[in-house]
Amino acid sequence: MIKEINGRTRLCGLIGYPVMHTLSPVIHNYLAEVTGKNLVYVPFQVENGLEYAIKGGFALNVLGMNVTVPYKTAVMEYLAEVDENARCISAVNTLVRMEQGYKGYNTDYLGLKRAMQVQGISLAGKDIVVLGAGGAANAVVYLCGQSGAEHVYLLNRTLEHAEKLCQHIRGFFPKTDWTAMKIEDYSQLPDKSMLAVQATSVGLHPHIEQVVIDDPAFYKNIEKAVDIIYNPGETRFMKMVKEQGGQAYNGLDMLLYQAVAAYELWNDLSIEEENCRKLSELLVKELQG
Ligand code: NDP
Repeated sequence: MIKEINGRTRLCGLIGYPVMHTLSPVIHNYLAEVTGKNLVYVPFQVENGLEYAIKGGFALNVLGMNVTVPYKTAVMEYLAEVDENARCISAVNTLVRMEQGYKGYNTDYLGLKRAMQVQGISLAGKDIVVLGAGGAANAVVYLCGQSGAEHVYLLNRTLEHAEKLCQHIRGFFPKTDWTAMKIEDYSQLPDKSMLAVQATSVGLHPHIEQVVIDDPAFYKNIEKAVDIIYNPGETRFMKMVKEQGGQAYNGLDMLLYQAVAAYELWNDLSIEEENCRKLSELLVKELQG
């Protein structure tokens, strides 16, 4: 895509390391096209000097930035303001230009929230199994708490990480019950219908044959599940959910809607669902190469 760049073109971009395989430029440049904005989005590979990158971006009049691995927490120190939700999640993935500097938001959680709404998944009053206690799981459990989940079982390979996250999130959402467990203890989960969110990196391309729990018995009680991995489009986790009669979704909509939420913040507008669906088709094609 070649677009006209002129004296009024605004710049947005992604800060991270590495950034070579990101889909964000495809998403944001598509959104700029359909909303008729004179805006270009590029990857900014930042190997060192995060502070200079943020301050330099502001000095260069960069409109907004996304932040990815490994800077989602470290970036908070260089911002003029941090949104309350992002502070609770302890991670910022979107910077919005303000008068004195950037304000940090977490649109990963907003992306998952909108994806689940579109998929017809309601977390309110539900028992939910969350697999993983890394950066992405922080956003997942925050959404569970904010949505009024009844009981969240947080299963992780390293129990201490799950315990730490449970303790942190319990302080914000005391009405939800929070239980930390080791993944291998999944058979101790109560025998009832549950939702599940797979938020570990197990099963990610190219290790597509891997799955975090390789026992059909676990999947019998999973009514609906989201694997936040989007490459491959159908993970082994998703296949195992479906084999036991459950519904399973991948993380592509979460990725898409986190970007849409960022774009909406930068440009103070709303993206219609119809354009999100077209964008989703475009991303599927990109991933298929
Ligand atoms: P982190 O590195 O922060 O966390 C990784 C998690 O996976 C930890 O809980 C870790 O457990 C667990 N894990 C790693 N290897 C294994 C293993 N062999 N067996 C069991 N558990 C394992 O990563 P993120 O949280 O940032 O990302 C997790 C996944 O989410 C990635 O695949 C990423 O692509 C995806 N993601 C998708 C997004 C989307 O928009 N759809 C957004 C962000 C992330 P332990 O604590 O024991 O190390």
